[in-house]
Amino acid sequence: MKAIQTLGLTKVYRARHPACDRISLSVNQGEIFGLLGPNGAGKSTLVKMLVGLVNPSAGSARVLGFPYRELAPRREMGYLPELFRYPPWLKAREVLQFHAELLGKPIHPDERDALLDRVGLLGRGGERVRTFSKGMQQRLGLAVALVGRPALVLLDEPTSALDPIGRYEVSQLLRQLKDEGTTVFLNSHLLSDVEKLCDSVALIDRGQVIYQGSLKDAIYGGVRRYRLTIGGLTETDWAHIQPTLSKAVVMIQWDDQGHADIGVDMRRQDVPEFVKTLVQEGARIYEVAPDHSSLEEWFLSRLGKDPR
Ligand code: ADP
Repeated sequence: MKAIQTLGLTKVYRARHPACDRISLSVNQGEIFGLLGPNGAGKSTLVKMLVGLVNPSAGSARVLGFPYRELAPRREMGYLPELFRYPPWLKAREVLQFHAELLGKPIHPDERDALLDRVGLLGRGGERVRTFSKGMQQRLGLAVALVGRPALVLLDEPTSALDPIGRYEVSQLLRQLKDEGTTVFLNSHLLSDVEKLCDSVALIDRGQVIYQGSLKDAIYGGVRRYRLTIGGLTETDWAHIQPTLSKAVVMIQWDDQGHADIGVDMRRQDVPEFVKTLVQEGARIYEVAPDHSSLEEWFLSRLGKDPR
């Protein structure tokens, strides 16, 4: 059984271009799935259809094995909307209590406190929403999404209001959820979040899925830029050996200590051979690393935009 399976899910708001255009995708149970795409691509609309807040114009979906319009799967789903506001006069613990009641799953005070602890709000349960910063409200929203121990959580831009530490903590929390067997569906326009966390991704643009699969395959399967730092060779040595190297070298920069930074475009499986050749020619390898800007480039090239 898939955690989520959509078939041709479509939403046309008024008579405009579809916000979601025949979206068919599947999410495995227990994985962290990332839905990537620029602002306005249709990510929120897709999630809202899955949780029953937006009526699709066409298509269907199954969630946790049930037709998605049924109430049964919703009791097992947690949802963090992109934009939300809790009544400012409520205390954080009352917000959790209230949602537990709505869900029909009473929450024990200890569990409620444990939930606040999980999202970094331990000891803040007695404070009112009014006094919470944006980041704290986002954390509270996450806690709400986890009320009732859902099997599937859908998070719409969960880290958008958080600083780097908050982002890191949320990433850790999502990994823990995965370890516990929870399926996480993450909407994000932040490649860095998705790259570190997600087992598989779908990329959508103007309502259409333009890539679905593993991010690693997407990035490592094709040609990608790597950066190497080498020593042990002079520029004259280099001029001598360069013809024997593949044409993959796209950039080389020497410093005054005889080290060079090299940029190569190649497939991941070709990297070891390239390094071996350099070593055989007398080079000393200090560093080999994928060039992270290439993820950004992959993203943009998929969206049909020239990254340079
Ligand atoms: P994303 O979450 O990827 O930023 P959205 O799903 O919010 O994208 O929006 C997709 C498209 O649908 C956008 O063009 C947006 O303006 C439009 N849209 C979203 N919600 C509504 C709505 N309630 N009424 C009309 N158009 C909407």
